[in-house]
Order: sequence, then C-alpha cells, then structure tokens
Amino acid sequence: MKNVVLALGTNLGDKRANLLTARELLQNQIGEELRVSKIYNTPSWGFDSYDFLNQVVVYKTALSPTSLLNEVEKIEKALGRRNKTVKKEDNIPIYVDRVIDIDILLYENEVINTSQLTVPHPKIVEREFVLRPLVDIFKDEVIAPFTKSFNSFLTQISCITI
Ligand code: ADP
Ligand code: MG
Repeated sequence: MKNVVLALGTNLGDKRANLLTARELLQNQIGEELRVSKIYNTPSWGFDSYDFLNQVVVYKTALSPTSLLNEVEKIEKALGRRNKTVKKEDNIPIYVDRVIDIDILLYENEVINTSQLTVPHPKIVEREFVLRPLVDIFKDEVIAPFTKSFNSFLTQISCITI
C-alpha cells in the first residue's frame, strides 16, 4: 500500500459539492482517505475566470501510478470534466474552467517522469493554493523527495509576491 497526495480544484457549478463527490468517488475507487486539508478559495490562476476551490487529500492506495492516473481521469470525466489543458506551440498552457481537476502531487516518495506523469507534481512549489493545504496536513515535516518543508516553500513564494 502506498500513500498518495492528490490536489483537487474546481471552478464550475456547486464547487463544494464537486469536492465532496470527488472525494467520495476517490475513496471508492482508489482507497481509504487518510487526511484532508481545509478548503481554499483562490482566484483563477493562469487565466481570467471564476474563482476556484482547492483542497488536498491523502489516500492509501494499492494502485500503481499509471492505474491511479487512469482512475483519477475517469473520476474527472464522471464529474463532467470536458476539457484538458492544452499547450500552445511555445509550450504555454491554455487553462480552462473545470468542474474538477485532480492532480497527483505525491506518490509515496517516488520520483516519476514519464510522458503521462510527472511526480512530484512540478508546480507544487510555485502554487500557494497547493502549498497552503499541504502545510495544513504536513506542517513543518519534510517529505522526500523534497528536502525542505512545504512551509518553507510557502514562505519563499510569499516573499516574492509581496
Ligand atoms: P492541468 O492539471 O495542468 O490543468 P490537465 O488536468 O488537463 O492539466 O492534465 C493534463 C495532463 O497532465 C494529463 O493528461 C496527465 O497525463 C498529465 N500529468 C502529468 N503529471 C501529472 C500529475 N502529477 N498529476 C496529474 N496529471 C499529470
Ligand atoms: Mg490536472
């Protein structure tokens, strides 16, 4: 069994209900929910639209990383997600509204780099809406393969944005 950390984001419809439904489906399909962060309201990031609700959840799962990604994508579809983020020629992502986005932040302490999956999720350390909920759960703990706590990453980006 592996501990995995997922980030949930939603900016369409009944956002609180979307988070609850996603957690229920995840618990059914991937495994037991161990920890859950507070819910954060975040202005849309990377594009101009409705605000997001964001939350981070920890699960215990028997699934491999690839099977986990498949299940997560099935749940996104089941909740009505239509569009994937596409990239322009210059590799700049075009973000779109979504009923639910489920990203794999951490898979145990593994480093994964395939065409389908990058873990730890590469944007963790630059996104306040991911770091804040991670700090709720892990406080000052240092989680490998990181060598600093999420709290110290958060302090770092807060200093840059002031
Ligand atoms: P984003 O979450 O960046 O807005 P999408 O949810 O549309 O984009 O995901 C696009 C692709 O990102 C997925 O098809 C998946 O293969 C890939 N991906 C790479 N690493 C991860 C990860 N850690 N968690 C989730 N998806 C990932
Ligand atoms: Mg995603």
